[in-house]
Amino acid sequence: MDRATDLFPGAPSTAGVVDVLVPVALDHTYSYRVPRGMALKPGDVVGVPLGAREVLAVVWAENANPDPRLHNRLKEVSEKLDVPPLKPELRSLVDWVANYTLSPRGMVLRMCLRMGEHLGPERVRLGVRLIGDAPKRLTPARRRVIEAVSDGLLHGKSDLVREIGVSGSVIDGLVDEGTLTVEAMPRTLPPPAPDPDFARPEFFDAQLAGVAAMRTLAANGTFQVALLDGVTGSGKTEVYFEAVAETIRRGRQSLILMPEIALTGQFLERFSRRFGVRPLEWHSELTPRTRQRNWASIAAGEAPVVVGARSALFLPYADLGLIVVDEEHDQAYKQDEGAHYHARDMAVVRGHIAKFPVVLASATPSVETEVNARKGRYQRVALPSRFGGQHMPHIEAIDLRREPPPRGRYISPRLAGEIRTAIERGEQALLFLNRRGYAPLTLCRACGHRFACTICDAWLVDHRFRQRLVCHHCGFSMPRPPTCPHCAAEESLVAVGPGVERLQEEAAALFPDARSMVLSSDLITSIETMRAELTEIAEGRVDLIIGTQLVAKGHNFPRLNLVGVVDADLGLGNGDPRAAERTWQLLNQVIGRAGREQGRGRGYLQTHQPEHPVMKALVACDREAFYTSEIEARERTGYPPFGRLASLIISAGDRPTAEGFARRLVASAPREEGVLLLGPAEAPLAVIKGRYRFRLLLKSARNFDLSDYLRHWLAHAEKPKGNLKLEVDVDPQSF
Ligand code: ADP
Ligand code: ZN
Repeated sequence: MDRATDLFPGAPSTAGVVDVLVPVALDHTYSYRVPRGMALKPGDVVGVPLGAREVLAVVWAENANPDPRLHNRLKEVSEKLDVPPLKPELRSLVDWVANYTLSPRGMVLRMCLRMGEHLGPERVRLGVRLIGDAPKRLTPARRRVIEAVSDGLLHGKSDLVREIGVSGSVIDGLVDEGTLTVEAMPRTLPPPAPDPDFARPEFFDAQLAGVAAMRTLAANGTFQVALLDGVTGSGKTEVYFEAVAETIRRGRQSLILMPEIALTGQFLERFSRRFGVRPLEWHSELTPRTRQRNWASIAAGEAPVVVGARSALFLPYADLGLIVVDEEHDQAYKQDEGAHYHARDMAVVRGHIAKFPVVLASATPSVETEVNARKGRYQRVALPSRFGGQHMPHIEAIDLRREPPPRGRYISPRLAGEIRTAIERGEQALLFLNRRGYAPLTLCRACGHRFACTICDAWLVDHRFRQRLVCHHCGFSMPRPPTCPHCAAEESLVAVGPGVERLQEEAAALFPDARSMVLSSDLITSIETMRAELTEIAEGRVDLIIGTQLVAKGHNFPRLNLVGVVDADLGLGNGDPRAAERTWQLLNQVIGRAGREQGRGRGYLQTHQPEHPVMKALVACDREAFYTSEIEARERTGYPPFGRLASLIISAGDRPTAEGFARRLVASAPREEGVLLLGPAEAPLAVIKGRYRFRLLLKSARNFDLSDYLRHWLAHAEKPKGNLKLEVDVDPQSF
């Protein structure tokens, strides 16, 4: 049945059979009969009956010789939708991603069809207009309709239904009686096009080579990957805009991918200052209506530039000619639900399949990308210095062993002094701590009881703003009790360790006159509130920002000159092979927020291990030293990109079931030279939401086809049944 691999376009088949892929968690296609009079070819978007439902699907292949005995039992395609067909390159991408990540193809296809889930693609909208007299039988509902359209203008039928709360049949009735007439609503006009020459900046000398490289890349329009590499503030955005401008001139679409959180109003504004109009947005917070409209513009080729989060990668662009992956090292590009994929890697795959250039931009490239650039597989386009001759921040380590904060406090006297001076000078300061809430642990001084989540292997985090103890893994929360639930001691509960909320308390005591703001994802309810808060900061109405990694990304705060990292060691030493890389990236980014426009920025790292290679490289501003030592370590240990990894997480409602299945799975693994199977071991978070988790880790050489090995193994292995769940993650990003 499954013919997805022969994607022959061929002549439209009539009254034949097609194999369609349905956007649900299934890998195989289904055969349907094509009704007489309907012409279908691969890529066409259709509606088909599936069980009792009617679902969207995509014709994946024509079925040249269907089994004649089955023919009459097949269901029929119910409709062909009036949207552009999915191009062969996008269908190949779906197949490729599914094959590589071992996700069901239908699940990957689903990401292409995210056009406002229940709305489907935009169809012709119907409107009604008053043309005749009121009917004889005038019910209250009919009267409301007639009043609403009494202006004689065209009113959207569905809008009327919503606004005045009548059913569609009331309106149909009035049409039947000749009171109203039905017309097609005019389609919304395409948005104005960005102008590639609207406001080109004058580039300065150090940027010129980068600008030329970007233009050549986009003008060639063939597959090539460039790493646009320069410190924060060196002008990467301005420079990759030149690749976008060139792509607009060539009449093709560009996609700028960003980590969701960096998709700020600031960026959209900046784009419109450069190109005259805002780009089209794509992210998880669009309303269904906007999503539907944007999907249609993208598919129709009416959106020359799309700025989106990772899910924008799978949209059916009419003619995509460039992808820019901004902050390419960001972990937010990895999707860990449904289909597990890395959007940066899949952007390169899409460029390769459809033969267009891809730009990866970062001040702190991932080790994978840096290695590709060092080996010449990617073109390195380096921007050497900061725009306008600004210096990189001056970075110092504060050795907490020698200069500890007072007992129960987290800001050392030196850091406090520096912040005070900065604020007095009218500068902004940022205290960075990558921990939400007030304190990561609450314990009873009398009996030692610690508050843990009942269904996860995790401590409850004290959140004072919300007045609750919260589990960061499952969301469980409870009020902080007045007495210890274990020993009933009174006033014995203490908060252990700092979170951003606790820092704010400390900061309020240290700097009573400063206006401070806490930026943390749990205090922000929507992209809109976040955009508003970032504007407050950018406009200088805040003296001291206290934030989690939410503030590290992509924002430009002109008055910010000092960054204090409260616990620089936080991400190190958790056994994750990428711990050093992550810490390097995060601290560089957050300190890079300082001194972007005026004065020389300063960064202070409070650490217990100033001799750690990451701290040393940061203080010395020695990027090469960091990458060289990290690349050597990866090569020595065979970690990516010198070896490949896949992880299998097995979970069940009870421990023996999960562990037993994991053991049987290991026993059934084909022995093959070059693959190392480690485990089962308890997963780093051994229990989440009451599910016990075990992990198997596969490690292989770089040139070994791990996906293929996994597919063969899992095809013959015992299938997870009942409560058991098996999740496969090829190229896992965290451990
Ligand atoms: P990055 O993306 O590397 O962090 P940006 O592109 O954001 O750097 O540039 C930093 C700041 O410098 C921005 O405010 C940007 O508008 C400005 N800038 C960069 N290059 C130029 C230029 N050639 N002319 C004018 N302003 C520039
Ligand atoms: Zn929990």
